Amino acid sequence: FGNWPGIVAAWGTLQPDAIALDDGYHRISWGALSGQVDRIAAQLIADGLQRGQAVAILGTTGIPYALAYLAAIRAGGCAAPLTTSATPRQLANMLADSGAIHLFIDGDKRAELLASGVDLGTARHVMLDAAAGETPSLSEWMAPEGSVPDIAPPQPGDAFNIIYSSGTTGTPKGIVHSHAMRWRQSVAGFQAIYSEQARAILSTPLYSNTTLAVFLPTIVHGGMVRLMGKFDSGQWLNAAQAMRATHTMLVPVQYQRLMSDPAFDSHDLSSMQVKFCTSAPFSAELKAEALRRFPGGLVEIYGMTEGGVVCMLQAHNFPDKLHTVGQPVKGHDLKVIDEEGRELPPGSKGEMVGRSPTMMSGYKNQPDKTRDMEWRDTDGNLWFKMGDIGIVDEDGFVQIVGRAKDMIISGGFNIYPKDLEEILMQQPGVADAAVVGMPSERWGETPVGFVVAAPDHALDLDQLLATVNAELGKTQRLSALHSIDELPRSHIGKILKTDLRAMLAETAG
Ligand code: ATP
Ligand code: MG
Repeated sequence: FGNWPGIVAAWGTLQPDAIALDDGYHRISWGALSGQVDRIAAQLIADGLQRGQAVAILGTTGIPYALAYLAAIRAGGCAAPLTTSATPRQLANMLADSGAIHLFIDGDKRAELLASGVDLGTARHVMLDAAAGETPSLSEWMAPEGSVPDIAPPQPGDAFNIIYSSGTTGTPKGIVHSHAMRWRQSVAGFQAIYSEQARAILSTPLYSNTTLAVFLPTIVHGGMVRLMGKFDSGQWLNAAQAMRATHTMLVPVQYQRLMSDPAFDSHDLSSMQVKFCTSAPFSAELKAEALRRFPGGLVEIYGMTEGGVVCMLQAHNFPDKLHTVGQPVKGHDLKVIDEEGRELPPGSKGEMVGRSPTMMSGYKNQPDKTRDMEWRDTDGNLWFKMGDIGIVDEDGFVQIVGRAKDMIISGGFNIYPKDLEEILMQQPGVADAAVVGMPSERWGETPVGFVVAAPDHALDLDQLLATVNAELGKTQRLSALHSIDELPRSHIGKILKTDLRAMLAETAG
């Protein structure tokens, strides 16, 4: 840890007048940001925050959100950003799990939680927005101008944040990241784009690791970040053009929305140096379209909130590997194992296990879940199961087949939803598709499809089902096909298959 100033200390030497953050409503300079972060941190300590204790944050991404986040860390605490899309019950559980005694929250979110009647415990609420009410707003609550927290600098092993996983496959898990992990991630890779001249535009929420993976390195290097609380293709295009953005992180569905916006080609995005993508399957066709139409390099990242192995595809350099997520980055290692835990040779499909220096410290309060992830090779080395099924090709490029939990076992055969989804997507008039497994008395499980019709297309579902099933192997055939206006997706573009399964269970029951 040579040069270890810690993330919050890193901007002490920057131009105080340079703009640090812009959220479309306000802009804040490094000088003002650093002063306000100190004042919030001082108040947290005065108000009983202990070293390492969580500070919960729940609200729309913007400057107040970012200030609360950074102040939690500046105060020697650990930021606990809660997933805004979670249900009131899940939020109450996350809050209790985190052990936070402070909750920075948006007024409307607070009203919603109070109305739901869930037990929010005794955490003190501080409003991120200046909504009226008995609770103080952030600006009223922070310590007086010039206050500085009296706290020793963090150690590399201290907790930096707890991020709750997306809950795509079950109850969200609290994932603890250390300062060391965040620091390594912020100063590694892509040094060329991260500098005081860097200008990032981010339109995914700050509670997600996806967003943080670009936000932190940008601010550590003194670049500026335009935060968008909500994604809108028109606003994104105008903002990116006006600020002459140098880099961004977009999830696949955002690439799709931007490039299908009629205004896309008339915007000047020539300042863009690198665009990142992660979180969900990014089809080879969409990557190819982005390479053709969207200025700047295209870098796909495969990873998980837990940390662990990260793969990267610099798509502009590997046009014949667009069906993959690239190779593990330096210092990261990946293997594929079978259901009995035996290592498989290149080209085989199986669960991926990885090891890397950026692995989380563990799931909060769930040592058994942490242990469930462990896998040991024949030499006894520790690896982590990633929960995804993949194939490593002869060149070491990794192709993601799907989530282990989404795999359908029908009549003893493994069915990978992605294989079926790809065939559905190739049918004329189909704009989007998803396949989930449903319980079946006869087969154990059986695949059921959902399709979204392209604009101005009417789908004949019976016809479509027959066509698709004719292309599928006997053991893979869909037992039903439903049409849906839009697939349920999380804020970071993941298809919520649990919601689709719940919809089916409801109509069946
Ligand atoms: P939970 O663990 O609560 O079920 P989650 O796994 O969706 O939620 P995240 O950590 O946000 O939570 O997401 C990591 C997962 O996202 C990976 O395991 C993988 O399935 C998927 N993913 C991430 N990057 C990519 C990518 N580039 N291509 C395809 N899938 C990806
Ligand atoms: Mg996961």
